[in-house]
Amino acid sequence: MTRADVLVVGGGIAGVSVAYELAATHRVVLAESEAQLAYHTTGRSAALYFENYGHAAIRPLSKASRRFLEHPPPDLCDVPLLTPRGGLTVARRDQIDLLDEAEEEGRAAGTDVRRLDPDGCVELVPALRGELLGGGLWEPGAADIDVAALHQTYVRGIRSRGGEVRRKAPVSTLRPLTDGWEAQVGDDELTVGYVVDAAGAWGDEVAVAAGVDPVGLQPYRRTAFMVPGREEWKTWPMCIGVAHDWYFKPDGIQLLCSPADETPSPPCDARPEDLDVAIAIERINAITSLGIRSVRSAWAGLRTFAPDRAMVIGPDPGNPRFVWLVGQGGTGIQTAPAAARLAAALLRGDDLDPDLVEAGVDPDALSPARLTER
Ligand SMILES: Cc1cc2nc3c(=O)[nH]c(=O)nc-3n(C[C@H](O)[C@H](O)[C@H](O)COP(=O)(O)OP(=O)(O)OC[C@H]3O[C@@H](n4cnc5c(N)ncnc54)[C@H](O)[C@@H]3O)c2cc1C
Repeated sequence: MTRADVLVVGGGIAGVSVAYELAATHRVVLAESEAQLAYHTTGRSAALYFENYGHAAIRPLSKASRRFLEHPPPDLCDVPLLTPRGGLTVARRDQIDLLDEAEEEGRAAGTDVRRLDPDGCVELVPALRGELLGGGLWEPGAADIDVAALHQTYVRGIRSRGGEVRRKAPVSTLRPLTDGWEAQVGDDELTVGYVVDAAGAWGDEVAVAAGVDPVGLQPYRRTAFMVPGREEWKTWPMCIGVAHDWYFKPDGIQLLCSPADETPSPPCDARPEDLDVAIAIERINAITSLGIRSVRSAWAGLRTFAPDRAMVIGPDPGNPRFVWLVGQGGTGIQTAPAAARLAAALLRGDDLDPDLVEAGVDPDALSPARLTER
């Protein structure tokens, strides 16, 4: 029997970031089912920081995360976590309405977005077929994230603060006590004050195991694959269709491509389907002169959303000793530093950090109460 203050369920980016924050004030144990941390969605992302993306309520979390990503604690990380990339959203001639909407959303969130004509788009990505384009939206601040280094920064930080990270440690049962939980974690029993649910696609399953009402999470499969690239493509920005139905970005000398698919899936070890890869190739070849024919590697991951597509962060209204940190959808990496600080502040009952407030983070819009108190 082990005693701790907090049990964090899940060793993806959500789990390690919140465990790091809480380890500053609490005895934390993080438990991950798999032998390898970040094995699921966190290890399968496109690794981009792209502010003009996702539900309005999570955009302030992206903004508020930038400072940590630019200046991680030097004793925990000695490589840059962000590398300038830039993001170009492109519209065909019949998609100008969508481009107007994307521009409005970006401006409303205070993101630096600049409208480009078709020539401006082709200047940035010469493979685009300018004759098909109506225009583009340029986000100069978009950047590549070193996801492995970010994840490792948090793991190092947990350990340096005296926290414990357990692998091959599935959390199977959670019995409520008057002041916390008795948890079965692998072969061990833990008594803890709080449980933080950072179990990604399995978030609702963990809640049900604790006797907490689920919030209605839905995982969706997303496919990505690498194709051979060229040296001169390495500096291109990430390029995404304004209808969010394809994207590509350089990854070293390869191009990372996706059909931006969203196929509902149960929580599982997601695998790519050949058809989704073929659809992406067709769409990207239609709008560019890339002529993609061969694929080097393909993978898929689950992006998990709450019904309204905002994240779910904070103590459960029915049992405040169960704290949600789920529904990261397609922005869980770029929002992790701020989302973790928000979850930690809500668990402790602290005021929000001033920079979260300044960025416009609204805890009510992210609270589980919006989904469970119907
Ligand atoms: C193709 C693709 C591209 C993406 N691109 C980007 C991007 O460019 N930028 C961005 O910010 N985001 C992106 N995302 C989204 C991002 O990857 C996710 O939002 C993020 O990784 C979710 O992290 P997580 O920790 O919540 O989930 P996960 O990484 O899935 O971690 C959850 C963990 O919980 C563990 N677990 C579950 N149940 C239990 C249990 N009972 N006991 C113990 N452990 C348990 C699981 O094994 C898992 O390791 C992308 C996703 C995909 C698939």
